Amino acid sequence: MTLFTKIQKREIPAQIVYEDDLCFAFRDINPQAPTHILIVPRIEIPTMNDAKLEHQAVLGHMMLIAPEIAKKEGIAERGYRLVINTNAHAGQTVPHIHIHLLGGRALSWPPG
Ligand code: AMP
Repeated sequence: MTLFTKIQKREIPAQIVYEDDLCFAFRDINPQAPTHILIVPRIEIPTMNDAKLEHQAVLGHMMLIAPEIAKKEGIAERGYRLVINTNAHAGQTVPHIHIHLLGGRALSWPPG
């Protein structure tokens, strides 16, 4: 079971800000911006390399939930960034796909 599934099952505490049948979202424990939320599918898909056609609905759903959360956080108009890290070169540390929703300040580009 992944760390994020343990959060989903309330075995590890987290500040959950959104939940539905397909995904859930909570505040990152080590925020990199004033708003830093992780959007996670209920099913465990390790990385984007493991995403298959059968995951299209849940992955698309997560993309549509992100702006809804951004609006609730009050950062949608000024802007935000969605990031999915994949494997070592991107710094992925939790093998359970998640979208980082980052905002609340100007973010630098390109990433390091
Ligand atoms: P990644 O490096 O893309 O795999 O992102 C994993 C993220 O999970 C990091 O930003 C961590 O700060 C975050 N994280 C790790 N443990 C927890 C936790 N217990 N609660 C909330 N966020 C966490």
